[in-house]
Amino acid sequence: ALPSRRVLLEETDKKRRVPLGIKGKKQKRIVVTGGAGFVGSHLVDRLMERGDNVIVVDNFFTGRKENVLHHMGNPNFELIRHDVVEPILLEVDQIYHLACPASPVHYKFNPTNVVGTLNMLGLAKRVGARFLLTSTSEVYGDPLQHPQVETYWGNVNPIGVRSCYDEGKRTAETLAMDYHRGAGIEVRIARIFNTYGPRMCIDDGRVVSNFVAQALRKEPLTVYGDGKQTRSFQYVSDLVEGLMRLMEGEHVGPFNLGNPGEFTMLELAQVVQETIDPNAKIEFRPNTEDDPHKRKPDISRAKELLGWQPSVSLREGLPLMVSDFRQRLFADSKLGGG
Ligand code: NAD
Ligand code: UDP
Ligand code: UDP
Repeated sequence: ALPSRRVLLEETDKKRRVPLGIKGKKQKRIVVTGGAGFVGSHLVDRLMERGDNVIVVDNFFTGRKENVLHHMGNPNFELIRHDVVEPILLEVDQIYHLACPASPVHYKFNPTNVVGTLNMLGLAKRVGARFLLTSTSEVYGDPLQHPQVETYWGNVNPIGVRSCYDEGKRTAETLAMDYHRGAGIEVRIARIFNTYGPRMCIDDGRVVSNFVAQALRKEPLTVYGDGKQTRSFQYVSDLVEGLMRLMEGEHVGPFNLGNPGEFTMLELAQVVQETIDPNAKIEFRPNTEDDPHKRKPDISRAKELLGWQPSVSLREGLPLMVSDFRQRLFADSKLGGG
């Protein structure tokens, strides 16, 4: 059997082998599952900047090594190819659990949300680590309350095409709370609303990445349904700030982390046109099943208890994503041989 964490810590403390971080504080050992993905890699950048010891666990299902390549060779950084559906033994202080196929195109038939979360909670229990779950606004389903407050229980179809994601995350929240209450694990729950920014998967089917890639490729923007459904789009740096405040703070949550600025898909298409190509065409397509009609976070709780609120508007954030997409699309087309 492995020695308990307390024994390990006492030993390393005694031998004064616990390295000091940038500000002279004890360096934290942090695992970020899904750390090679879109949100995860931005989080890793901030943690590395802070001087922490970061282990990324990722199976590269939708993530890419390129997203964390700039940390390779740094002794504070480690990258492990691993599927969280399988158990893993690590010694860490904090677990940011992001691993999850997050796009509708990818998340079908994947047990990551339930089995992966269970394993990471088991790990948290064994080593006494603090555990942060990145849940989602999808737990509210097609909400009957607007905007959505954390106390709202949601309106989710348990047997629909999206339910493996929605219900998977709901189950993950349940597991986290059970480990919190039952095993005394320090748990933090974030309910993330639609987030965009550089390093987003180009072809994973989400609306912002679709519209941006389409406009850059001179293809029509595909609006599903009548385009009057709404979403609230948050820039990735705002989210990462919220996640870190939540992890370091004293509150379990759940906390909505999102930008309350609400847009219809037609309005989003218009912002993309203004930012990239005013002549981009719009093409209507049939909508997917169970598509939520409205979504907008009430962030009063995060404002009050975490002192957090987003600061980057869609019109400020979108151009930052566009230059990243432009570069990657251009590089891709060169690689593709054209
Ligand atoms: P992403 O697809 O870019 O990142 C997910 C990462 O997890 C990828 O690197 C992927 O390779 C990895 N992964 C997937 N399954 C894995 C497994 N079984 N084992 C190990 N690694 C695995 O997506 P993202 O947008 O960065 O999302 C990160 C987290 O935030 C997810 O949990 C997602 O559900 C949540 N979230 C994101 C949004 C958003 O708008 N981006 C909204 C709500 C919730
Ligand atoms: N687990 C893991 N790493 C650890 C400790 C546990 O991956 O360091 C996994 C373990 O294999 C199990 C899950 O986490 O599948 C839940 O662990 P827990 O100890 O809570 O449950 P038990 O093993 O007692 O059923
Ligand atoms: N959507 C769209 N065109 C696209 C992709 C998505 O109009 O090319 C719509 C989709 O029907 C949904 C909204 O945009 O109403 C947000 O979809 P996304 O998959 O990005 O996020 P989620 O539905 O998970 O909030």
